[in-house]
Amino acid sequence: MTAGLISIIIPSYNESDNIDLIYKAVDKEFEGLLYNYEILFVNDGSTDDTLVRIKKLAGSLGNVKYLSFTRNFGKEVALLAGLQHADGEAVIIMDADLQHPCSLIKPFIEGYEEGYHQVIGRRNRKGDGWLRSCLSSLYYSLINKFVDVDLQDGVGDFRLLSRKAVDGLLRLNEGSRFSKGLFSWIGLSQKIIHYDNVCRENGHSKWKFSKLLNYGIDGAVSFNNRPLRICFYTGIFILLLSVVYIMVHLIMIMNNGIVERGYFTTISAVLLLGGIQLLSLGVIGEYIGRIYYETKQRPHYLVEESNIKNGKSSEADQ
Ligand code: UDP
Ligand code: MG
Repeated sequence: MTAGLISIIIPSYNESDNIDLIYKAVDKEFEGLLYNYEILFVNDGSTDDTLVRIKKLAGSLGNVKYLSFTRNFGKEVALLAGLQHADGEAVIIMDADLQHPCSLIKPFIEGYEEGYHQVIGRRNRKGDGWLRSCLSSLYYSLINKFVDVDLQDGVGDFRLLSRKAVDGLLRLNEGSRFSKGLFSWIGLSQKIIHYDNVCRENGHSKWKFSKLLNYGIDGAVSFNNRPLRICFYTGIFILLLSVVYIMVHLIMIMNNGIVERGYFTTISAVLLLGGIQLLSLGVIGEYIGRIYYETKQRPHYLVEESNIKNGKSSEADQ
């Protein structure tokens, strides 16, 4: 570990037009600072010339490191690779698309000097589509009732982490990673810095609605087994209700004889129960799916090329 070094981790997927811009923006921020910095680009299987741009920078600058994956493994995994290969006494995680304002680097470092282990950027939702904003607020108000970690709207991975926080995160070795939850799980002292949302200028967001939905489900099931338990309780509730229903009807039949009842009741009961069963199976399937992936013990990613010593291995040598 080098004293006075801050590592900036930038996961990059098809960010060709942003690589030079983000480097310049970061470099400018460090001009007046006492710290040295290194930028660690993680090229997450880009199909454009992102890697060419990164290598060009790395060729002329000693403080630009890169890892390039064999394919797209996803941002969460790119972050993990970045954390594993960062040498700094503190690490700042930023997006390549300039949506995370570099002007926060200074306040982040000030927070770090005050002794905080996590200095977190929290954005408002200015400029976001109303549907996405509404769904996000709804999601966060619901999810915090489900999970054991605290998840906040507008808080993502744009943050500074002390070495202690990074080492803590690296001990969490799970395959399906939900960073927001992991950051919260490790605890340690936190400082929040608010900033205005910035819209992307080059390239486009890689989050489609289906991807966001999957991310939401990851958040719900990654941190506890409460959804499974809810299915269990719903099952018991429905079962009790059916027993009462059957008893009442048996008594009615004994008193009045069989009266032809409506088709509607039968169909609604079948549909309701079918729905609940499928939902419960889905939830159980989520957990089993996770167990399946975890038991394979595959490496989280494969590196095709890198300018970091030992960076060619599939996982960092810790
Ligand atoms: N990213 C990545 N792998 C992916 C998708 C995204 O490394 O599979 C990077 C992307 O290059 C960017 C950051 O993650 O630096 C955030 O992505 P994006 O801007 O698409 O997300 P949004 O800002 O819309 O949440
Ligand atoms: Mg973005």
